[in-house]
Amino acid sequence: MSATFTPKTVAEVVHLVQWARQTRTPLYPVSRGLNWGYGSSSPVVDGCAVVDLSGMREIRNKTEISARNPVAVIEPGVTQGDLHDHLAEHHPDLTFNVTGSGRQTSVLGNALDRGVGYIGPRKEDIYGLEFVDGQGRVFETGFRRLGEHSPLAHTHPYGLGPMLDGLLSQSNFGIVTSACFRLLPRRPREAAVSFSLREPKDLGAFLDALIAMKREGLLATVTHAGNRARTQATLTYGLSKYLAAECGLRGEALERAAVQALRLVAPYEWTALGSVMGSAGQLRATLKEIDARSRRWARVRVVTEERLRLGYAVLHRLRWLPAARAQAAAIAAIRPLQGLARGVPTDAPIDNLLWKFGRPELPAEHLDRSRCGLLFINPALPADGGFVARLMDELDRLAATFGHTLNTTINIETPTSVVAVINLLFDRADPQAVAQAHRCADALYRCIDASGLSVYRARADMMADVVARNPAYWALVRSLKDVLDPQGVIAPGRYCPA
Ligand SMILES: Cc1cc2nc3c(=O)[nH]c(=O)nc-3n(C[C@H](O)[C@H](O)[C@H](O)COP(=O)(O)OP(=O)(O)OC[C@H]3O[C@@H](n4cnc5c(N)ncnc54)[C@H](O)[C@@H]3O)c2cc1C
Repeated sequence: MSATFTPKTVAEVVHLVQWARQTRTPLYPVSRGLNWGYGSSSPVVDGCAVVDLSGMREIRNKTEISARNPVAVIEPGVTQGDLHDHLAEHHPDLTFNVTGSGRQTSVLGNALDRGVGYIGPRKEDIYGLEFVDGQGRVFETGFRRLGEHSPLAHTHPYGLGPMLDGLLSQSNFGIVTSACFRLLPRRPREAAVSFSLREPKDLGAFLDALIAMKREGLLATVTHAGNRARTQATLTYGLSKYLAAECGLRGEALERAAVQALRLVAPYEWTALGSVMGSAGQLRATLKEIDARSRRWARVRVVTEERLRLGYAVLHRLRWLPAARAQAAAIAAIRPLQGLARGVPTDAPIDNLLWKFGRPELPAEHLDRSRCGLLFINPALPADGGFVARLMDELDRLAATFGHTLNTTINIETPTSVVAVINLLFDRADPQAVAQAHRCADALYRCIDASGLSVYRARADMMADVVARNPAYWALVRSLKDVLDPQGVIAPGRYCPA
């Protein structure tokens, strides 16, 4: 068991670092520690003290946030839920890049781990980092070093001179105690577009069409293409909850109705969800163009919050009819997910996992108390549909040899880059299932590596192979670490082995 410290201020973090230097106890910082699928809050080496920063939960510049100053200076403990609720109450004209993880996950820890939100990679959203290094010194990056009262402190992301921000992400070079986080203006109109790919064999061409639409700015956010296993894993609980609570279904009748509703949302193997934003006129023209480009491969549906609200109101009243019931259930299940692109975080995907593993009563933040075992294997991919489709096929076939079905989303995250988020689910109370899942994850990783690719976010057990591939690069990383933390006070992290 590691000791855990819960500092509340920067001064307390500095004090902890000084104590760690004297006692030679490596420190392992986490913001909320909900890094499920990558090791949660567990340190990578034994003998560490965990620095749990969840008690540093201030939005420091609350009174200065406005449409003209769309920046929140946040501490590590600020959750997605905190930021959303604050903006909803005080600045409904502003939103931000939320992830599909729970409401209680952090904004800053996720960005430092280079997580990906519905608008894009979170790394792009943070700058002006305040951090404590391994010698107990406090630094600010960019123009924040001029002092909080400088007019440039929270407005210029780059500062002057070498940009040190990158040294603090996926690293163990310092303990970040606050950062500037970009907020986004709400657009006058927003709509989600759902695509159901009719034939799995067209996945490559379909992805190329989606990638082109991202490059040309037609699809504004990250477009997620999920396979059936993933869609099922994400929606079944929402569907079943509605059918049980609102329609009184139980047992086999419930299962049959849930399958019928799932078929409406995901009628084929691959379903993608993207979104468009702009004025009413821009939206009309963009949707027309998207439809023209994709309808030869996919069934295209436009989903707006108003349509869902209206549809639900009507269909819910008609729920004694099986067809209406299925549609109302589908709306109830997809609504929280559709809100993600509009900056509304949800626990729905975590609740689904808790339900699947028999603990629907647990709050989402306690996922680790359930039997849900989860391993992420997330390859970074080129923006080449054919390549991606071939690799996904190979990984699926490989996983099947271990008895696993992969839950996969292919995310078009920037105009030039695609990532896949692949998770392996297993019962972690069953030692054989745990061992088998790890064997499967290792095989998938080796296949990714053999294709000349890498994961974009790693578990600690992958890093020996990663380092072996480019030892000189990682030796340079190690020497940079020595500058800020010569005694190794901040523990080896997942990305920076000892
Ligand atoms: C169903 C499901 C859906 C998910 N969806 C997404 C998704 O859409 N996008 C996504 O990115 N992830 C997703 N995740 C993964 C994960 O839950 C999130 O990334 C989550 O935000 C990470 O937990 P956290 O915010 O508490 O970060 P933490 O666990 O606190 O931090 C992550 C890591 O960053 C480092 N770190 C944290 N804080 C500091 C600090 N202050 N100083 C220095 N280093 C620090 C540490 O190494 C730490 O291990 C999902 C997980 C599940 C189970």
